[in-house]
Amino acid sequence: MTARKYPFYPSWDGGSTSPITKKFYDLCNKRWAFTNLGMYVNRQMRGSKNLSVHASGFAVDMGYPATRAGRAAAKEAWTWLVDNSEALLLCELHDYSYRNPAQPESDKTSWGRGYRCSRGAGQKGVKLFTSSDNAGTPGGVWLHAEISNEWENAADFEKAWRALPKP
Ligand SMILES: [Zn+2]
Repeated sequence: MTARKYPFYPSWDGGSTSPITKKFYDLCNKRWAFTNLGMYVNRQMRGSKNLSVHASGFAVDMGYPATRAGRAAAKEAWTWLVDNSEALLLCELHDYSYRNPAQPESDKTSWGRGYRCSRGAGQKGVKLFTSSDNAGTPGGVWLHAEISNEWENAADFEKAWRALPKP
């Protein structure tokens, strides 16, 4: 599979949360008990005049407890969602608590990691963030996810989700 064009640059005001985003969150909540920290919000990106993808209605922030079990659930979700990025038409995923093991011991900050569809399918689309190139909020205990606006409806999305092997 080749890279897919990233659909949310620039973002726009979609007026409300997409039913696809709601379905995606419901399915993640059932599987990993993530909490809903926000879907549609008409706001600008941090440090930018452009709108956040949250304004389009296709982004969700999913929280988890800052515990060993919470982190394990987030890691499982990260791997499963990235591995199935094409089947789910995942466009972006941020894991703010990831710490690159190759980082020097002196730098304790978890700079995070991000998947983006335009970089490639699955693990090819993953970039490890650094002190100078990251998505902000290092160490944040939530995942930020963006699902494509190409889905016809939430039922089709759910069907695709259920057709995948469980993590
Ligand atoms: Zn977010």
